[in-house]
Amino acid sequence: MLAGFSHETNTYCPDGTSLDEFVRWRGSRITEEAIGTATVWGGFVDRAADLGLDAVAVYTADAVPSGTIDASAWSTMRAELLESIVAAEPFDAVALNLHGAAVADGCDDVEGDLCTAVREVAGTRPVGAVFDLHGNLTQAMCDALDLVLPYHEYPHTDTRERGTELVDLLARRVADMPRPAVYLASVPMLLPVTRTTDGPGAAANEVCARVEARPGVIDCTLLHGFPYADLPFANASVVCTAIDDFTARAGAEYVAKWLWFHRDDFMTTTFGPDAAVAEARRQFAERGGPVVVHETDDNPGGGAPGDGTALLRSLIDAELPAGSACFGFVHDPETAAAAHAAGVGEYLAVRLGARSDGRHGTPIIAEAEVRALSDGRWILKALGAGARTNLREMACLRIGGVDVIVSSRRQQTFDDGCFEIHGIDIEERDIVALKSSNHFRAYYAPLATAIVTSDAGGLTSERLDAFPRVRDRRNLWPLA
Ligand SMILES: [Zn+2]
Repeated sequence: MLAGFSHETNTYCPDGTSLDEFVRWRGSRITEEAIGTATVWGGFVDRAADLGLDAVAVYTADAVPSGTIDASAWSTMRAELLESIVAAEPFDAVALNLHGAAVADGCDDVEGDLCTAVREVAGTRPVGAVFDLHGNLTQAMCDALDLVLPYHEYPHTDTRERGTELVDLLARRVADMPRPAVYLASVPMLLPVTRTTDGPGAAANEVCARVEARPGVIDCTLLHGFPYADLPFANASVVCTAIDDFTARAGAEYVAKWLWFHRDDFMTTTFGPDAAVAEARRQFAERGGPVVVHETDDNPGGGAPGDGTALLRSLIDAELPAGSACFGFVHDPETAAAAHAAGVGEYLAVRLGARSDGRHGTPIIAEAEVRALSDGRWILKALGAGARTNLREMACLRIGGVDVIVSSRRQQTFDDGCFEIHGIDIEERDIVALKSSNHFRAYYAPLATAIVTSDAGGLTSERLDAFPRVRDRRNLWPLA
């Protein structure tokens, strides 16, 4: 039986997250959307079909990362999920698709609470979960589960693979595999954005892979954790699943020690937005385009509003040749609606972005030409390939020579779909700006001539010491 709940909670967001921000699905709709997709659900559903298992998808709820979940929203979804599992009796095993960094008002450890409750329903039957690499794993989660399989990769390119592995292992558990030991080693570190395709993130994964090659080890994963949560268990961690406690503990502690010893390799360097644009121009002059500038601190994928204007303003102020730069995208439903009302070819006075809070710049007040309009739908190409995305009314506006995409829904930029549906070929642009911390790399890394990181101190800033820790007073690296 398959169920899921996913939210990455940024406790620094000024607003909470209500029930209506979650997409909640039941039954066959989950399966129909999942088949063939590069997602955990795709791995669950397709592998179960391959093995001839009668896998019933009962419930899923997820929302774009945002602030603390309202207490009533969590109690509603908790009850819905548990009731749907009970209603699916009899079953042999439970596979959960979770994030691991959800926080609700009155419940700091949402997944710990949920896994414990699912364990009570399942009794001695196997229960396993896939987690996001940014989960803040807790002992409660590990105690409740037979199998803990977080993603290894960031960008999360192995979601389908992890879903597949969990189904395989649960099938073995149901057959004859004894309940494994799960050991959690917390590391007193807040990891900045760390990709796993190269550098220290890739080196850490090689260490995990060496542990996985040891006899008796089923899985060993470094979780980067989610640092934008002021909680005493928000930190990097290593989880090892093995045939016995000793092997699991030895594996997890080996990687945890390696991480601590190499911690200074994980520091990142970023530019302020003006400097980022200057650096992008320098890179373009040297290598040609497209140079990608990513606004890491206003990443809706980590709870930031996605309507920040810091990088966009710097791009406009740079007075680049008309049409040489494009920006995808700013979340601003009012401006998108105004553009649709005006029509292509028309000009309108806009007050774009920076509506959510005072932390992400000030609105861009300008005259904009409506260059293209769309319904905001496309199929994801790289990360989550095959999954449908729908950002509702979108528009391409030319402001001060920059082609700016505006959306009606929040999301980080994963691929060039937001440009393509508005007739923009990014390969013809000098500078492509976007809002994402790392997932964009799954699509852009092979085609960008250079990648520059812009950070103006927004809600997903890589300057972690800018986030006050009131509830969590621990002495964490790299905080002063
Ligand atoms: Zn993640």
